[in-house]
Amino acid sequence: VKKGERELIEGIRKRAARQDGVGRLVRLGIGDDCAILRSRRGEELVVTTDLSLENVHFRRDWHPAASVGHRCLVRGLSDLAAMGARPEAAFLSIAVPRELAGRWLEGFLDGWMAAAKRYSVVLAGGDTAEAPRCPGSSRHSLFAADILLVGSAPAGKALRRSGASANDILYVTGELGGAAAGLRALSARGREYGRREHLYPEPRLKAGVRLVAKHLATAAIDLSDGLSTDLTHLCEASGVNAIVNRAALPIARGATLDDALNGGEDYELLFTARPGTKVPARLAGVPVRAIGRMIPRRRARHGAQIELRGEDGRRAPLLPGGWEHFRPRGEGKS
Ligand SMILES: [Mg+2]
Repeated sequence: VKKGERELIEGIRKRAARQDGVGRLVRLGIGDDCAILRSRRGEELVVTTDLSLENVHFRRDWHPAASVGHRCLVRGLSDLAAMGARPEAAFLSIAVPRELAGRWLEGFLDGWMAAAKRYSVVLAGGDTAEAPRCPGSSRHSLFAADILLVGSAPAGKALRRSGASANDILYVTGELGGAAAGLRALSARGREYGRREHLYPEPRLKAGVRLVAKHLATAAIDLSDGLSTDLTHLCEASGVNAIVNRAALPIARGATLDDALNGGEDYELLFTARPGTKVPARLAGVPVRAIGRMIPRRRARHGAQIELRGEDGRRAPLLPGGWEHFRPRGEGKS
Protein backbone atom coordinates (compact mmCIF):
# COMPACT_ATOMS: atom_id res chain seq x y z
CA VAL A 1 0.00 0.00 0.00
CA LYS A 2 2.92 2.32 0.70
CA LYS A 3 3.79 2.64 -2.97
CA GLY A 4 0.12 3.10 -3.75
CA GLU A 5 -0.10 5.97 -1.33
CA ARG A 6 3.08 7.58 -2.70
CA GLU A 7 1.69 7.38 -6.23
CA LEU A 8 -1.62 8.78 -5.07
CA ILE A 9 0.00 11.74 -3.34
CA GLU A 10 2.30 12.29 -6.32
CA GLY A 11 -0.79 12.42 -8.55
CA ILE A 12 -2.47 15.00 -6.32
CA ARG A 13 0.75 17.01 -6.14
CA LYS A 14 0.98 17.08 -9.95
CA ARG A 15 -2.59 18.29 -10.16
CA ALA A 16 -1.86 21.02 -7.60
CA ALA A 17 1.25 22.08 -9.54
CA ARG A 18 -0.94 22.71 -12.58
CA GLN A 19 -2.91 25.38 -10.71
CA ASP A 20 -2.21 28.79 -12.22
CA GLY A 21 0.48 30.42 -10.13
CA VAL A 22 0.13 30.48 -6.37
CA GLY A 23 -2.68 32.18 -4.48
CA ARG A 24 -2.32 35.66 -3.09
CA LEU A 25 -1.85 34.31 0.40
CA VAL A 26 -0.11 30.98 -0.24
CA ARG A 27 3.68 31.37 -0.05
CA LEU A 28 4.34 27.64 0.18
CA GLY A 29 1.84 24.97 -0.81
CA ILE A 30 2.06 21.17 -1.00
CA GLY A 31 5.49 19.57 -0.45
CA ASP A 32 6.72 20.52 3.01
CA ASP A 33 5.52 19.68 6.50
CA CYS A 34 3.26 22.72 6.57
CA ALA A 35 1.96 25.27 4.10
CA ILE A 36 2.92 28.89 4.66
CA LEU A 37 0.27 31.58 4.29
CA ARG A 38 1.08 35.24 4.42
CA SER A 39 -1.25 37.69 6.12
CA ARG A 40 -2.10 40.93 4.41
CA ARG A 41 -2.48 44.31 5.99
CA GLY A 42 -6.08 45.38 6.44
CA GLU A 43 -7.44 41.87 5.95
CA GLU A 44 -8.48 39.04 8.23
CA LEU A 45 -8.36 35.30 7.64
CA VAL A 46 -11.69 33.47 7.62
CA VAL A 47 -11.48 29.71 8.24
CA THR A 48 -14.01 26.90 7.93
CA THR A 49 -14.00 23.09 7.76
CA ASP A 50 -16.45 20.61 6.23
CA LEU A 51 -16.85 16.84 6.24
CA SER A 52 -18.21 14.86 3.29
CA LEU A 53 -19.16 11.31 4.27
CA GLU A 54 -20.34 8.54 1.99
CA ASN A 55 -23.99 7.60 2.65
CA VAL A 56 -24.48 10.80 4.67
CA HIS A 57 -23.61 13.57 2.22
CA PHE A 58 -23.54 11.52 -0.97
CA ARG A 59 -24.25 8.05 -2.31
CA ARG A 60 -21.91 6.32 -4.69
CA ASP A 61 -24.82 4.91 -6.73
CA TRP A 62 -26.47 8.33 -7.13
CA HIS A 63 -23.65 10.83 -7.36
CA PRO A 64 -20.98 10.69 -10.06
CA ALA A 65 -17.45 10.89 -8.56
CA ALA A 66 -16.87 14.35 -10.07
CA SER A 67 -20.05 15.62 -8.40
CA VAL A 68 -18.85 14.29 -5.03
CA GLY A 69 -15.58 16.24 -5.48
CA HIS A 70 -17.39 19.39 -6.59
CA ARG A 71 -19.88 19.28 -3.73
CA CYS A 72 -17.14 18.54 -1.18
CA LEU A 73 -15.37 21.80 -2.01
CA VAL A 74 -18.49 23.90 -2.62
CA ARG A 75 -19.92 23.12 0.84
CA GLY A 76 -16.96 24.97 2.35
CA LEU A 77 -16.84 27.69 -0.31
CA SER A 78 -20.47 28.52 0.41
CA ASP A 79 -19.57 29.18 4.04
CA LEU A 80 -16.87 31.62 2.87
CA ALA A 81 -19.46 33.26 0.58
CA ALA A 82 -21.80 33.72 3.56
CA MET A 83 -19.07 35.69 5.35
CA GLY A 84 -18.33 37.77 2.23
CA ALA A 85 -14.81 36.29 2.13
CA ARG A 86 -12.62 35.54 -0.89
CA PRO A 87 -11.33 31.95 -1.05
CA GLU A 88 -7.53 31.64 -0.84
CA ALA A 89 -6.32 28.18 0.19
CA ALA A 90 -7.84 24.74 0.64
CA PHE A 91 -6.58 21.66 2.50
CA LEU A 92 -8.06 18.28 1.58
CA SER A 93 -7.81 15.13 3.71
CA ILE A 94 -9.31 11.92 2.34
CA ALA A 95 -9.86 8.38 3.63
CA VAL A 96 -10.12 6.18 0.53
CA PRO A 97 -11.41 2.58 0.38
CA ARG A 98 -8.91 0.42 -1.52
CA GLU A 99 -11.36 -0.33 -4.33
CA LEU A 100 -11.87 3.41 -5.00
CA ALA A 101 -8.17 4.35 -5.21
CA GLY A 102 -8.17 4.18 -9.04
CA ARG A 103 -10.71 5.60 -11.46
CA TRP A 104 -13.28 6.71 -8.88
CA LEU A 105 -10.72 8.80 -7.00
CA GLU A 106 -9.49 10.35 -10.26
CA GLY A 107 -13.09 11.38 -10.98
CA PHE A 108 -13.44 12.84 -7.47
CA LEU A 109 -10.23 14.84 -7.91
CA ASP A 110 -11.32 15.99 -11.40
CA GLY A 111 -14.50 17.46 -9.91
CA TRP A 112 -12.70 18.93 -6.89
CA MET A 113 -9.89 20.53 -8.92
CA ALA A 114 -12.26 21.90 -11.58
CA ALA A 115 -14.22 23.67 -8.82
CA ALA A 116 -10.96 24.89 -7.23
CA LYS A 117 -9.90 26.41 -10.54
CA ARG A 118 -13.28 27.93 -11.21
CA TYR A 119 -13.47 29.60 -7.79
CA SER A 120 -9.75 30.50 -7.57
CA VAL A 121 -8.80 28.49 -4.51
CA VAL A 122 -5.35 26.86 -4.23
CA LEU A 123 -4.94 23.30 -2.96
CA ALA A 124 -2.19 23.96 -0.42
CA GLY A 125 -2.00 20.67 1.51
CA GLY A 126 -3.83 17.73 3.00
CA ASP A 127 -3.53 14.07 3.89
CA THR A 128 -4.53 10.66 2.54
CA ALA A 129 -5.22 7.35 4.25
CA GLU A 130 -6.68 4.00 3.24
CA ALA A 131 -10.15 3.62 4.76
CA PRO A 132 -10.25 0.33 6.72
CA ARG A 133 -12.97 -2.29 6.42
CA CYS A 134 -15.06 -2.85 9.52
CA PRO A 135 -13.58 -5.83 11.39
CA GLY A 136 -15.57 -9.00 10.66
CA SER A 137 -17.55 -7.35 7.85
CA SER A 138 -17.29 -8.15 4.17
CA ARG A 139 -18.95 -4.87 3.25
CA HIS A 140 -16.76 -2.31 1.53
CA SER A 141 -15.48 0.58 3.58
CA LEU A 142 -16.71 4.12 3.06
CA PHE A 143 -15.10 7.21 1.55
CA ALA A 144 -14.65 10.30 3.70
CA ALA A 145 -13.23 13.72 2.84
CA ASP A 146 -12.51 16.64 5.13
CA ILE A 147 -11.67 20.09 3.85
CA LEU A 148 -10.26 23.13 5.57
CA LEU A 149 -10.71 26.42 3.72
CA VAL A 150 -8.96 29.71 4.32
CA GLY A 151 -10.44 32.91 2.92
CA SER A 152 -9.76 36.60 3.39
CA ALA A 153 -12.02 39.54 4.13
CA PRO A 154 -11.44 43.24 4.86
CA ALA A 155 -10.65 43.51 8.59
CA GLY A 156 -13.80 43.84 10.70
CA LYS A 157 -16.09 43.58 7.66
CA ALA A 158 -16.82 39.85 7.35
CA LEU A 159 -20.59 39.22 7.44
CA ARG A 160 -21.96 37.50 10.52
CA ARG A 161 -25.23 35.85 11.47
CA SER A 162 -25.64 38.15 14.43
CA GLY A 163 -26.06 41.61 12.85
CA ALA A 164 -29.78 41.67 11.96
CA SER A 165 -32.21 44.06 13.72
CA ALA A 166 -36.00 44.29 13.83
CA ASN A 167 -37.37 45.93 10.63
CA ASP A 168 -34.43 44.78 8.50
CA ILE A 169 -35.56 43.33 5.17
CA LEU A 170 -34.78 39.67 4.46
CA TYR A 171 -33.31 38.78 1.05
CA VAL A 172 -32.30 35.61 -0.74
CA THR A 173 -30.17 35.06 -3.86
CA GLY A 174 -31.14 32.75 -6.71
CA GLU A 175 -33.87 30.14 -6.39
CA LEU A 176 -34.89 27.74 -3.65
CA GLY A 177 -35.69 24.03 -3.60
CA GLY A 178 -33.87 23.03 -6.79
CA ALA A 179 -31.36 20.86 -4.93
CA ALA A 180 -34.07 19.00 -3.01
CA ALA A 181 -36.04 18.44 -6.22
CA GLY A 182 -32.84 17.18 -7.82
CA LEU A 183 -32.18 14.76 -4.96
CA ARG A 184 -35.72 13.41 -5.29
CA ALA A 185 -35.22 12.83 -9.02
CA LEU A 186 -31.94 11.02 -8.31
CA SER A 187 -33.45 8.74 -5.69
CA ALA A 188 -36.59 7.98 -7.73
CA ARG A 189 -35.23 7.74 -11.25
CA GLY A 190 -31.48 7.18 -11.06
CA ARG A 191 -28.38 9.17 -11.75
CA GLU A 192 -29.14 10.12 -15.36
CA TYR A 193 -31.91 12.33 -13.98
CA GLY A 194 -29.64 14.32 -11.68
CA ARG A 195 -30.07 18.09 -11.84
CA ARG A 196 -27.24 20.59 -11.96
CA GLU A 197 -28.56 22.43 -8.86
CA HIS A 198 -28.06 19.27 -6.83
CA LEU A 199 -24.97 17.71 -8.47
CA TYR A 200 -22.98 20.88 -9.24
CA PRO A 201 -24.25 23.72 -7.01
CA GLU A 202 -22.59 27.13 -7.29
CA PRO A 203 -21.37 28.97 -4.20
CA ARG A 204 -22.38 32.66 -4.26
CA LEU A 205 -18.85 33.94 -3.68
CA LYS A 206 -19.03 37.04 -5.87
CA ALA A 207 -22.41 38.03 -4.43
CA GLY A 208 -20.95 37.73 -0.90
CA VAL A 209 -17.91 39.85 -1.76
CA ARG A 210 -20.24 42.46 -3.31
CA LEU A 211 -22.37 42.59 -0.15
CA VAL A 212 -19.25 43.44 1.87
CA ALA A 213 -17.77 45.89 -0.64
CA LYS A 214 -21.02 47.87 -0.93
CA HIS A 215 -21.87 47.66 2.81
CA LEU A 216 -25.30 46.29 1.90
CA ALA A 217 -25.92 43.54 4.46
CA THR A 218 -26.35 43.59 8.23
CA ALA A 219 -26.22 39.77 8.59
CA ALA A 220 -25.87 36.72 6.34
CA ILE A 221 -25.87 32.92 6.30
CA ASP A 222 -25.70 30.37 3.47
CA LEU A 223 -28.59 28.00 2.82
CA SER A 224 -27.01 24.61 3.43
CA ASP A 225 -29.63 23.01 5.71
CA GLY A 226 -32.80 24.64 4.35
CA LEU A 227 -34.42 28.10 4.63
CA SER A 228 -36.49 27.30 7.74
CA THR A 229 -33.47 25.95 9.64
CA ASP A 230 -30.85 28.46 8.45
CA LEU A 231 -33.17 31.44 9.01
CA THR A 232 -33.73 30.14 12.55
CA HIS A 233 -29.93 30.14 13.06
CA LEU A 234 -29.74 33.74 11.84
CA CYS A 235 -32.65 34.81 14.07
CA GLU A 236 -31.13 33.05 17.10
CA ALA A 237 -27.77 34.75 16.53
CA SER A 238 -29.37 38.19 16.02
CA GLY A 239 -31.99 37.96 18.77
CA VAL A 240 -34.91 38.70 16.45
CA ASN A 241 -37.87 36.89 14.82
CA ALA A 242 -38.80 36.86 11.13
CA ILE A 243 -41.81 36.85 8.80
CA VAL A 244 -41.45 35.18 5.39
CA ASN A 245 -43.90 36.03 2.59
CA ARG A 246 -44.92 32.87 0.82
CA ALA A 247 -45.76 34.69 -2.43
CA ALA A 248 -42.28 36.23 -2.61
CA LEU A 249 -40.35 32.95 -2.43
CA PRO A 250 -38.39 32.26 -5.64
CA ILE A 251 -39.22 28.57 -5.98
CA ALA A 252 -37.14 26.65 -8.53
CA ARG A 253 -38.79 24.84 -11.47
CA GLY A 254 -40.11 21.45 -10.39
CA ALA A 255 -39.63 22.22 -6.69
CA THR A 256 -42.39 22.25 -4.07
CA LEU A 257 -43.00 24.78 -1.30
CA ASP A 258 -41.62 22.19 1.13
CA ASP A 259 -38.44 21.86 -0.99
CA ALA A 260 -38.01 25.65 -0.90
CA LEU A 261 -38.61 25.94 2.86
CA ASN A 262 -36.97 22.77 4.16
CA GLY A 263 -34.80 21.31 1.39
CA GLY A 264 -31.12 21.82 2.03
CA GLU A 265 -28.05 22.28 -0.16
CA ASP A 266 -29.27 25.17 -2.31
CA TYR A 267 -26.15 27.11 -1.24
CA GLU A 268 -27.86 30.45 -1.86
CA LEU A 269 -27.22 33.40 0.44
CA LEU A 270 -29.82 34.58 2.94
CA PHE A 271 -29.09 38.10 4.18
CA THR A 272 -30.65 41.09 5.85
CA ALA A 273 -30.34 44.80 5.07
CA ARG A 274 -31.60 47.98 6.72
CA PRO A 275 -35.01 49.09 5.37
CA GLY A 276 -33.46 52.19 3.75
CA THR A 277 -30.65 50.31 1.96
CA LYS A 278 -31.06 50.08 -1.83
CA VAL A 279 -30.34 46.43 -2.57
CA PRO A 280 -29.91 45.86 -6.33
CA ALA A 281 -32.16 43.34 -8.14
CA ARG A 282 -29.03 41.36 -9.06
CA LEU A 283 -25.73 40.84 -7.26
CA ALA A 284 -22.83 39.73 -9.46
CA GLY A 285 -25.39 38.50 -12.00
CA VAL A 286 -27.48 36.53 -9.47
CA PRO A 287 -31.12 37.60 -8.91
CA VAL A 288 -31.92 38.86 -5.40
CA ARG A 289 -35.41 38.77 -3.90
CA ALA A 290 -36.87 40.37 -0.77
CA ILE A 291 -38.77 37.53 0.92
CA GLY A 292 -39.70 38.96 4.30
CA ARG A 293 -38.58 41.05 7.22
CA MET A 294 -37.22 40.79 10.72
CA ILE A 295 -39.47 41.59 13.69
CA PRO A 296 -38.76 42.05 17.41
CA ARG A 297 -38.71 39.08 19.78
CA ARG A 298 -41.87 39.27 21.79
CA ARG A 299 -40.46 37.40 24.72
CA ALA A 300 -36.71 37.55 25.02
CA ARG A 301 -36.54 34.23 26.83
CA HIS A 302 -38.21 32.32 24.01
CA GLY A 303 -36.17 31.04 21.09
CA ALA A 304 -36.39 32.49 17.61
CA GLN A 305 -39.79 32.22 15.94
CA ILE A 306 -40.46 32.42 12.24
CA GLU A 307 -43.83 32.90 10.61
CA LEU A 308 -44.92 32.20 7.06
CA ARG A 309 -47.44 34.71 5.71
CA GLY A 310 -49.75 33.19 3.11
CA GLU A 311 -51.27 35.00 0.15
CA ASP A 312 -54.43 35.60 2.21
CA GLY A 313 -52.34 37.49 4.77
CA ARG A 314 -52.72 34.79 7.41
CA ARG A 315 -49.64 33.86 9.36
CA ALA A 316 -48.61 30.37 10.49
CA PRO A 317 -45.54 29.32 12.46
CA LEU A 318 -42.67 28.05 10.30
CA LEU A 319 -40.70 25.49 12.27
CA PRO A 320 -37.13 24.54 11.42
CA GLY A 321 -37.65 21.48 9.19
CA GLY A 322 -34.34 21.26 7.38
CA TRP A 323 -31.47 18.86 7.77
CA GLU A 324 -30.18 18.13 11.25
CA HIS A 325 -27.72 15.44 12.34
CA PHE A 326 -28.55 13.41 15.47
CA ARG A 327 -32.26 14.20 15.15
CA PRO A 328 -34.22 11.40 16.92
CA ARG A 329 -35.55 8.88 14.39
CA GLY A 330 -39.10 9.41 13.20
CA GLU A 331 -38.99 13.15 13.79
CA GLY A 332 -39.02 15.75 11.04
CA LYS A 333 -37.51 15.09 7.67
CA SER A 334 -36.99 11.50 6.58
MG1 LIG B 1 -23.00 27.67 6.49
